[in-house]
Amino acid sequence: MSKIKVAELFYSIQGEGRYMGVPSVFLRTFGCNFKCAGFGMPRGQLSTEAEQVDPGKYSKYEELPLVSTGCDSYASWDPRFKDLSPMLTSDAIVERIMQILPHGKWKDEHLVITGGEPLLGWQRSYKDLLNHPRMSKLKEITFETNGTQELTEEFEDYLLQWQMPKTNFVPEVTFSVSAKLPASGESRSETIRPDIVCRYQMVGHTYLKFVVATEEDVADALQATEQYRNAGFKGSIYLMPVGGVESVYTLNNRRVADLAMKHGLRYSDRLQVPLFKNEWGT
Ligand code: SF4
Repeated sequence: MSKIKVAELFYSIQGEGRYMGVPSVFLRTFGCNFKCAGFGMPRGQLSTEAEQVDPGKYSKYEELPLVSTGCDSYASWDPRFKDLSPMLTSDAIVERIMQILPHGKWKDEHLVITGGEPLLGWQRSYKDLLNHPRMSKLKEITFETNGTQELTEEFEDYLLQWQMPKTNFVPEVTFSVSAKLPASGESRSETIRPDIVCRYQMVGHTYLKFVVATEEDVADALQATEQYRNAGFKGSIYLMPVGGVESVYTLNNRRVADLAMKHGLRYSDRLQVPLFKNEWGT
């Protein structure tokens, strides 16, 4: 039976993107190919905030401190915290999902598979999870990805087949692609992969969500958008404010909403920040 290294598994309201406001189960897998230490920092500087967190002091993921700079889910990929993320079988994951769903089964809730980067090696494990009999009523899945990981042919075929109409509903897969701009601290040549993202749109509904704070970030987003469009990307473009903690989010949200309107792009909030302070498990 397939296993997945699970950083977090919780029930909350989706705070971002297309399904904002929808009650959702979040499966956060462990591992990422980036570090994104530039978020919330002056251009060209990298945060060391997460590096100062001493893993020896914490026995539970949810006890870890939140950070205001760098990747706000650092513990889902930093190897120093790997022991806080258990390797779980698909049966164990489904059992936990049934415990956290309010009716003990899927109704209208949505499944978000996030990370870290959920399209790394775990692609091979999702089939077992989604084929579990207690997952048969699940209608919608979003993969929250950084858009740099190709889908395997086997996984593509599986997701297309998973979306075949059922008696009472048509299941749908969404790829929410948070492509990283230079403000993340990562190199554009590695983060902007239109070839890969265009392939996702052959398999499911796909949109781009750029995390921005300034006009300069938006200029980077527009430049990246042109690259995606030139490669044949047809989906929507969202701007979302930087800010994994409320003090940073509130500095940016109104300005980013204004910038989205100015450029005719969609605005995505981060509802988990004002609603739940973006604590672990929200
Ligand atoms: S891609 Fe996402 S999870 Fe990975 S380091 Fe960047 S912000 Fe964090």
